[in-house]
Amino acid sequence: MAVCPRCAGEIPEGYGSVCPTCGFVVRIPGIVKLGLTFLVAGFAVAIIWTIQADALFAGLWGLLDRLVAQPLGFRPPPFELTGLLKTLYDLLFGTETQPPWGGVLLIAAGVGLGFAGGVILRRAEGRPAGA
Ligand SMILES: [Zn+2]
Repeated sequence: MAVCPRCAGEIPEGYGSVCPTCGFVVRIPGIVKLGLTFLVAGFAVAIIWTIQADALFAGLWGLLDRLVAQPLGFRPPPFELTGLLKTLYDLLFGTETQPPWGGVLLIAAGVGLGFAGGVILRRAEGRPAGA
C-alpha cells in the first residue's frame, strides 16, 4: 500500500500512478521518462547545431590533440569524418544547409512518448477507485 506524498491518502495497490483522492501523479511512467530523455537529447543536438557541430568537435579534437596526443608523441590526423560516419554525423547534427534531423526526430519522439504517457495517466485516472 502506497501513500500519496501530497494528500497522504492511501493509494490502492494496482491503481496506477495517479492518486485517486487528489489526482497527484505519484509515479512517472517509464515511457514519459524515456520521452523526456529524448527531448533533452534532441535539444542538446539542436544547441550543438546552432553553435556549429563542426567547430565544436574540431575544437574538442584540437584540445585533445594538445593535451593528450602531443605530450605522448602521437601525430593524429586533423578532425575529419568520412563515408558512412560522415553521413550519419550530418544527419544527426545537420550541416550549414541541412537541419539536424537526428535532433528533430529525437524531439518528435520525445513529444510523442510524452503524449503516450499522458494517455496512460489519463486511463489510470479514469479507473474507478476502490473497485
Ligand atoms: Zn493524493
